[in-house]
Amino acid sequence: MIDVLNEIHQEVSPLLGQGKVAEYIPALANVDPMQFGMAITLNDGQYYGVGSYQTPFSIQSISKVFSYTLALRAYQNGLYKRVWREPSGNPFNSLVQLEYEAGIPRNPFINAGAIVVCDSLVSHFSTNEKAFNEILAFIHQCSGDKSIAVDEVVSTSEMEHGYRNIALASLMKSFGNFDNDVIEVLQTYFKHCSIVMNAQQLSRSMLYLANDGTDPITKQQLINSTQAKRINSLMLTCGHYDASGDFAFRVGLPGKSGVGGGIVAVVPGKMAIAVYSPALNESGNSLVGTKALELFTTKTGLSIF
Ligand code: GLU
Repeated sequence: MIDVLNEIHQEVSPLLGQGKVAEYIPALANVDPMQFGMAITLNDGQYYGVGSYQTPFSIQSISKVFSYTLALRAYQNGLYKRVWREPSGNPFNSLVQLEYEAGIPRNPFINAGAIVVCDSLVSHFSTNEKAFNEILAFIHQCSGDKSIAVDEVVSTSEMEHGYRNIALASLMKSFGNFDNDVIEVLQTYFKHCSIVMNAQQLSRSMLYLANDGTDPITKQQLINSTQAKRINSLMLTCGHYDASGDFAFRVGLPGKSGVGGGIVAVVPGKMAIAVYSPALNESGNSLVGTKALELFTTKTGLSIF
């Protein structure tokens, strides 16, 4: 496995420098775009990494996998009254579709959907602070690492520049699809986006999705196998903003990206993979990260198809 990773590292290196880091907040705009790291954790706990695989970065929208998991656990299919499970075909922070569709977001991985998921968690756990603590505790549990924390500078900056997300939440509130205070829920949302992890921790934390909902190392059941199937399906169809179809076409694995430059992918029954390379393509997905995952499934044949 390490040979494949080394080969990929070599092959993607000439691409570093293409794409652009996220610029909507200074903390992300100042990241070195030339970094690349890739980590794999197998279901038996063995792991492999190359490049900057232990460099911490802002997980951003990858956090939406964890919050969706908790909301699914809390509400089961009742969740889908408030958020659908269709690809949006629109940019992750688009307001237009939400207006047409009466405040019901297309899926839990676009911003509006993840904000509604956070709202449901604030209701379920009674305060925004408790909701955030539960999300973080869940990440500690599935990564097996209690040192994972929030970057408060990123989180504060997200809030200061969060007008579009405030607009999305307010629009949903106007349609009656929002129970709590908009700003309080957004605090939970921005904090969970601002969690910092490295590729190794991320790949470890996704193993429950590679093993039907049960952490293959601790043997703890985190969700049931039907729920794991649902999450993987949505990662495949909606995990990469409006380029989800292209990612599925090229990589052939369930995955979720974030504008911090991370992408996680799941090989059911076998492993989870995380890549980090902060320069993004025009759809907001890591340019080199996507290429690295495409090379991985091409070289190993380990796609779900
Ligand atoms: N915190 C970011 C936002 O809400 C998440 C962006 C992302 O990774 O998609 O704008």
